[in-house]
Amino acid sequence: MQSLQNQDQQVLLENYLSALGLSMFLHNYQAYAKDAARSGESPERFLLALCEDEWSHREANRVNRAITAAKLPFFKEFATYDWSAVENIPKSRVLELAQGGYLEQAENVLLLGNPGLGKTHLAIALALSACRQAKRVRFYRAAKLVDELMTMQHTLKLSSFVSRFEKLDLLVLDELGYIPVDPKGTQLLFQLCSDLYERVSMIVTSNLRFGEWNKIFGDEKMTAAFIDRLTHKGHILEFVGESYRFRHSLQQGLQSEGESKPEAG
Ligand code: ADP
Ligand code: MG
Repeated sequence: MQSLQNQDQQVLLENYLSALGLSMFLHNYQAYAKDAARSGESPERFLLALCEDEWSHREANRVNRAITAAKLPFFKEFATYDWSAVENIPKSRVLELAQGGYLEQAENVLLLGNPGLGKTHLAIALALSACRQAKRVRFYRAAKLVDELMTMQHTLKLSSFVSRFEKLDLLVLDELGYIPVDPKGTQLLFQLCSDLYERVSMIVTSNLRFGEWNKIFGDEKMTAAFIDRLTHKGHILEFVGESYRFRHSLQQGLQSEGESKPEAG
């Protein structure tokens, strides 16, 4: 009779845990209860251990969901970035940005410079940091976003499309500069960025210097207004140098050449 009651209790408890969505409680409670009974732990300690596991599990899920929603093209971390390859990008400044203060203030980050210097790498690493801080992030190649904006306008879905961006904490706009100049498209991009101004942070990467941004918009006034909005409260990081990959493969080539060379003399 006693064991039947225990069994009923167990079924009831598991139903409640499941209905409450406490999956880690459900998964762990029996093992933890045994441990607690064995070691004489207090009920509070037992409950605390269950809560901690439930919490970490939910945190991990939340971060994973944020990373999936960000639609990053691939993952890049600060740990794999070779800071010695870029002279004028202070690691401390970038890592400070990664702490996310700029997101609270809806400030922007601009990563400018020649191709291959790791602008996209650092933009993605910053985006991942934001995801880990429970921020809503979305990554877009600029050309793709312009395409989508135009499609949405044609299908009369522009306003609901734009409203999705207003709910973000961070929009990463990669490769601004590789956009085919289409006045309608760039106008829509300009409009979107104006809507987000001072509300949603943007990380923008571009291989073009500000002086060349006219090429993107094909309109001096719009270019000036765009730059003005982006740089107001903006953190500008200018990458100077030669492509990292190019230098790397060159170095490796030289090394293997050196290795295969017969000894002189
Ligand atoms: P960019 O966006 O400036 O054109 P990417 O971020 O696409 O450059 O970099 C090209 C490739 O080189 C990527 O695989 C990136 O991870 C790598 N890379 C570039 N700079 C560095 C660096 N300083 N340390 C490590 N990897 C780098
Ligand atoms: Mg890039």
